[in-house]
Amino acid sequence: MASIKLSPSLQTLVKRTPLASRADADRVLKGDLEHGAQKYAKQALVDGGDSWKVFFALEGELGRGFDASVGGLPVTSCESLARWAFDNGRDDVAALAYQRLLESGAAASSARELADRFVQTVSDTQGPAAGTEARALVERALPAAVASRARSEVPTFHVRPAKDRSPHSYGGYDIAMPPCSACGEKLRLYFSFDVEAEPTLVSLVPSWAMFPLVGCGSCRAWMFRTEIQLDQETTAATIVRVYADPEALRAAAHSRTPTPVMPRANAALVLATDGGVEPTLGGDPHWRGNPQSVSCWTCHQPMVFVAAMATPVGFEPSVAITGWHDHFACDRCRTLTVIAQ
Ligand SMILES: [Zn+2]
Ligand SMILES: [Zn+2]
Repeated sequence: MASIKLSPSLQTLVKRTPLASRADADRVLKGDLEHGAQKYAKQALVDGGDSWKVFFALEGELGRGFDASVGGLPVTSCESLARWAFDNGRDDVAALAYQRLLESGAAASSARELADRFVQTVSDTQGPAAGTEARALVERALPAAVASRARSEVPTFHVRPAKDRSPHSYGGYDIAMPPCSACGEKLRLYFSFDVEAEPTLVSLVPSWAMFPLVGCGSCRAWMFRTEIQLDQETTAATIVRVYADPEALRAAAHSRTPTPVMPRANAALVLATDGGVEPTLGGDPHWRGNPQSVSCWTCHQPMVFVAAMATPVGFEPSVAITGWHDHFACDRCRTLTVIAQ
């Protein structure tokens, strides 16, 4: 391995957005920049983009310009990169990544959200003729705006404390929870919703009796997409799969911040009037990946977005949740996929 002394600014950057695995982080700090660039490009797919900044700093240190860096990435990374770059004023990088994505033929319909900015950037930097060509490429390469947009017709609810006994609840112990794959603590039951009591739930997951919001309340295992299956009566849950290697799980388990015991409290669903970051049911997913790519590991059926966990409003004791934890569901085999955004 080539050992390069990291500049102080690069060291700061690497420490501010650390790799999930301690071993990988150490390797980067000792100068293995190639390894670091690879790992940060991977991590960017799950952390919503902070890792892209470190990726480009490492690539720059390795003497590669943006063209070479973007060209060396797997095409599956290009949508995430384009989003991050547009959001951070790097329209040139975004346009490069986006163009690669379109030309690969692997673009998902979610990439359409970025199409106008791409065409505008090309037009601004290369002239109107190039802009027209870019628009034609978009239309050829992107699947037509699809049925998934119709999902916004599903109403969005927030979850608030209820004074009276209610069919929905916060906390409690209605479901026997499995141990977290990373830290071994039992997963938390954050909320449970009575499906029959809410028509929106009946329309999304008719075969479920109860719909839970779950997750580890003790460590950073939430960073990894996790599939959890419930038994027929929704009284017990098991973890089917976690999309992380053992090393990454060990790293996630290192940052432990145990949450308080959560006795059962009554909860009510109220129609949402704003898009604040709080637990929601219905509406659209927050995850920026392609919702149509979420399919059940167990039975391969497409999954439907049902609800999202976030830091609850008004409930005691509260728990601090980072961002949104979207819950997708397979109605056929009662499997949940939880993805953080
Ligand atoms: Zn855990
Ligand atoms: Zn399934």
